[in-house]
Amino acid sequence: MQVEKEVKTVLKKEKVSSEKKEKNSEREKIIVLKGVKKVYRMGTERICAVDDVSFEIYKGEFCCLLGTSGSGKSTLLNLMAGIEKVSSGQIIMKGKNIHHMNENRLAKFRQKYLGFVFQSYNLLNSMTALENVEFPLVFKRVPNKKRRRMALEMLKKVGLEDRIKHKPKEMSGGQQQRVGIARAFVANPEIVFADEPTGNLDSKTSKEVMELIQGMARVNKQTIVMVTHDNKLAEYADRVIRVFDGKIISIEENDHSQKKEESDVNDEIAQVNKETSNEETSNDINNNDINNKDTNKEEFTEEVINLKKAEG
Ligand code: ADP
Repeated sequence: MQVEKEVKTVLKKEKVSSEKKEKNSEREKIIVLKGVKKVYRMGTERICAVDDVSFEIYKGEFCCLLGTSGSGKSTLLNLMAGIEKVSSGQIIMKGKNIHHMNENRLAKFRQKYLGFVFQSYNLLNSMTALENVEFPLVFKRVPNKKRRRMALEMLKKVGLEDRIKHKPKEMSGGQQQRVGIARAFVANPEIVFADEPTGNLDSKTSKEVMELIQGMARVNKQTIVMVTHDNKLAEYADRVIRVFDGKIISIEENDHSQKKEESDVNDEIAQVNKETSNEETSNDINNNDINNKDTNKEEFTEEVINLKKAEG
């Protein structure tokens, strides 16, 4: 029984991984980086913060740039957001080379398609939560009343309807970041960039904030590009791009549905083990039974090999 389930899990894993690869080749590429380099000059020193990087981000996915401090993640994010200029290479966003745009066009592009969540929230201290969330809509020339209604709705979604008149200093870090998230999502941008969004928060609040970002993006099929140094936070993403020394060292898929299935299978296995162990206790366990465990393992490995062969 246990062997059968483990075989099923292995086969399912392989199937999902090949299905994912197939699906990715069909998906719309919303951001494409081709041979991107960023070199900073400090006096006579040259710092290559991003070193010949190429990858794609798909529409609607939650993508994470993961790496230790100084690895080049924030520079990459700033390049994708058009905040910094590339030294060489191309960044194509929604089919347009953003580094061919002049400042004016780039600013309009950002307003139309992009949202930002920052580690230090970047709220305007003189404004209330409501005014902060309304802010991006002012640039989009949304009329007053509609603006207020949209901001209110958004603050409700992040659970802050009772804090709309509070200024940033009158709120906790977690509440300020919720305002930051409401502001990033209020204009329904296609892409949201988040730079260490939970960097200043405790672990419980971090989890809440991550679930909020993930949930918001899923509902509206938005693309999230998040930078973090934290492996745990990377688990929220669909794909993890590992950065080291300005280079991409790996790109991995996180399969949430598979994880759930695996955990369901593990639960079932645990249940079977529990029942078996209850039976064994009443029948007096002997050494032969313990040795069976190893035999099971060997049978399992053999069965996987045979099934793989049968699948061709
Ligand atoms: P991370 O976000 O992974 O911590 P960064 O992208 O901030 O890394 O930095 C990558 C490298 O580029 C680091 O060595 C950093 O010191 C350098 N760097 C970043 N910004 C600048 C800058 N404006 N001028 C000079 N060097 C910079």
